[in-house]
Amino acid sequence: MKTPTQTHAIDFDSAKLQRLGFGQPSVLARRPTTVAQLRQQLSMHLQTSLEPERILGLFFREIQRLVPLDALQYRHEASDLRLEFGHRGHHSVSYALSHEGEHLGELVFRRNQRLQEEELSQLESLLATLLYPMRNALLYRAATRSALLDPLTETGNRIAMDQTLQREIDMARRHLTPLSLLMLDIDHFKVINDTHGHTAGDSVLRAVAQAIKNQLRNVDMVFRFGGEEFLILLSNTGRDAAAMVGERLRQATQAQDYWADGERIELTVSLGCSTLLAAESAESLLRRADSALYVAKREGRNRLAMAG
Ligand code: GH3
Ligand code: MG
Ligand code: MG
Repeated sequence: MKTPTQTHAIDFDSAKLQRLGFGQPSVLARRPTTVAQLRQQLSMHLQTSLEPERILGLFFREIQRLVPLDALQYRHEASDLRLEFGHRGHHSVSYALSHEGEHLGELVFRRNQRLQEEELSQLESLLATLLYPMRNALLYRAATRSALLDPLTETGNRIAMDQTLQREIDMARRHLTPLSLLMLDIDHFKVINDTHGHTAGDSVLRAVAQAIKNQLRNVDMVFRFGGEEFLILLSNTGRDAAAMVGERLRQATQAQDYWADGERIELTVSLGCSTLLAAESAESLLRRADSALYVAKREGRNRLAMAG
């Protein structure tokens, strides 16, 4: 006879939280504690995540067992990271976090009531538990971000583009907002390479990418699509507005100064524009922008063509 097997699903996250006394809501969590106890629990618990938001959220929640606060803000410019927990608080105290010369961001504690000396020294002691978790989280964030960036132009790479395009199409569907796409290709780029060399070509590519980014509100939506081709996603933008952005990009890339061997290079670009149709796939939207780009090239370059 077969014995029935019981299967158990273990949610490691919540199992760990409960074992460590961080169950939510938990009686334990509200119990008074000492700095030493809280430090020990925090250092165990904070290392279970690589997400800055989660680490700081936990930190904010748990330190309130000793030092009640109204808000916690965190900023790390190099990672383009700004987080805020809670709200308001007239009084504030800020700490620049660093480790062996490495800047790990700035933390601001806020409270309506002034913080006492004793509380400040407790906060400072608890801050130490953030060091390794935050350093690891920042490293992890930098690694995942660079995996999505084209190293030469610092625009999104193909992986980023595929993810973002699908996400934007889903959003446009859900919220019934328009979505447009611009495909931009440098005119006669081969000539620049042939005349001035590949290294000069590379720096021209970087300058074109910068000129594009300077014109856009959301630089996260620029991708290097191929060698000298860029794709720009315009969320919440219909056909007419996209045509205006495309024309602005054409002018801005042409107006930028490009130099090779101490000589100024003239450069133009061609663009194709498509706007998402009902029930259209990502492939089809891309294909229509590419066909429009082909038309712009055929009709003489240095122009924008709209997909039919
Ligand atoms: P068209 O106006 O028809 O677009 O002409 P084109 O010369 O720009 O187009 P073509 O596709 O013939 O050539 C693109 C060139 O871009 C060829 C290739 O050597 C160059 N290229 C592609 N990627 C890079 C890169 O990363 N760096 C440099 N320097 N050149 C690149
Ligand atoms: Mg080209
Ligand atoms: Mg090309």
